[in-house]
Amino acid sequence: MRILVIEDEPQLARHITSALARHGHEVTTRQDGILGLQVALGLPHDLIVLDLNLPGIDGLAVLAKLREAKCPVRVVILTARSEVEHRVKGLKAGADDYLSKPFSMEELAARVEALGRRGAAPTADDLLEVFDLRMDVPHRRVSRSGQAIALSPREFDVLHVLMQEPNRIFSRTELCERVWQRDHEYNTRTVEIFIGRLRRKVDAGFPEPLIHTVRSVGYSIQAPTVSTPAGSDLTPPG
Ligand code: CA
Repeated sequence: MRILVIEDEPQLARHITSALARHGHEVTTRQDGILGLQVALGLPHDLIVLDLNLPGIDGLAVLAKLREAKCPVRVVILTARSEVEHRVKGLKAGADDYLSKPFSMEELAARVEALGRRGAAPTADDLLEVFDLRMDVPHRRVSRSGQAIALSPREFDVLHVLMQEPNRIFSRTELCERVWQRDHEYNTRTVEIFIGRLRRKVDAGFPEPLIHTVRSVGYSIQAPTVSTPAGSDLTPPG
């Protein structure tokens, strides 16, 4: 795996680098938050080992910037034992795992391997599929029957919520809360507008609509069932 280590204690950074290199990884090291972030955004890495107390900008800020940039890299944060609060903040900010200092290099290598297995291939979360509709989540790309569909960021977000749980019915209120979160300018009418736009982009021109309205309940995305339409030999993939 290609791993970036952002750690400002030189001795610890050296230990980590050589331990990971011994396990066959390609390791880059930076000792400053700003420089680390630049490298992380400039080159794709499979994993980042990120210290939280860093010069420049701290690890939490690095993590926030990475997630803001929709960078899909796995991140293990390093925290001091006393920093329980930081650890919680780190996990909430999008870290995948943490290690409390001091830790053994075997422990680090084991965590890295475990995360690497999760990150080796696109995971179920990264690649969503409903019938012939595909969503590449990290790259925010959507296609149907191999044809790219251009969506606005909000349209993508609405479709993302639906595609994460096919067949589940989402109420307008729930979709609002999931997509617009703390933005209070939404209302359920907005959801109807977005669903309308998605229908035109995703379903128009296809014999099988995927986006369904469940009267007075909400919306869901569903693959066409085998029996519909009658006589069809279409079967959902997988
Ligand atoms: Ca430090």
